Amino acid sequence: MISEVHTAPVSANGSLIHIEHLAKVYELGEVEVHALRGVSLRISQGEFAAIMGASGSGKSTFMNILGCLDKPTKGSYLLEGIDVGSLSRDELAAIRNKKIGFVFQGFNLLSRTSALENVELPLFYGPTSTKARKAKAIAALERVGLGERIHHYPNQLSGGQQQRVAIARALVNDPSIILADEPTGNLDSRTSVEVMGVFQELNDHGITVILVTHEPDIAAFAKRHIVFRDGKIKTDRVNNDPKIASDVIKDMPMIDADEEEEAK
Ligand code: ADP
Ligand code: MG
Repeated sequence: MISEVHTAPVSANGSLIHIEHLAKVYELGEVEVHALRGVSLRISQGEFAAIMGASGSGKSTFMNILGCLDKPTKGSYLLEGIDVGSLSRDELAAIRNKKIGFVFQGFNLLSRTSALENVELPLFYGPTSTKARKAKAIAALERVGLGERIHHYPNQLSGGQQQRVAIARALVNDPSIILADEPTGNLDSRTSVEVMGVFQELNDHGITVILVTHEPDIAAFAKRHIVFRDGKIKTDRVNNDPKIASDVIKDMPMIDADEEEEAK
């Protein structure tokens, strides 16, 4: 059951993300690649949006701009009312570190570093004391259900557990937004649903989640579906009946226990 998104009423703090006429052109020598060609949208605090569309449609470019990793060529991006386009590199890095948590398809964990130390990493950029850093990292790992595994190394964890560590790392600075680019792309279907369950729980607690996926089964857990095509938004719809991960998981076969054990 899907219906069109209606533009939310505008107030001073109404939209977490407010984007108008965004364009991104990559210059490749003589060639210009128009990756985004006029994207406008608003995303409010507490939304859970899936960004979909064919490969090359501009999803990652859009996520990089949302995440303040890159700047648009044209157009405006207000994040909590702050005009991101006008910020210096240092200011961008600061806003990114404070407001945004990233989750990637390949987990991007440091392999010779424990779960705890991986999650502590983003806190080294701030003034946090050693003790507070450890406490915050443990709390984030507990939040994703890994309180018992804080001293494990990535190669001692299953794929789903590694992605939970990555989510804990994304959470440790208390961001208002989690951005995830194909976070279930390397996971089997049951583990994917578990990870979607983690995102849904965070979203239930008010964190805005924006994730890229090309899988309709994964997008079905999101509350809004934004489909890109050729650098533009093709459709933008509310999903009135998102699937609930904790329900879906009950009907899925368990992974073979030995395999799970080996992965740990
Ligand atoms: P998606 O994530 O939907 O697959 P991307 O945002 O990665 O799409 O890419 C959109 C378009 O921009 C593609 O044509 C891609 O080749 C191009 N592109 C992406 N990143 C760069 C870059 N750093 N330099 C040049 N072209 C790029
Ligand atoms: Mg991509």
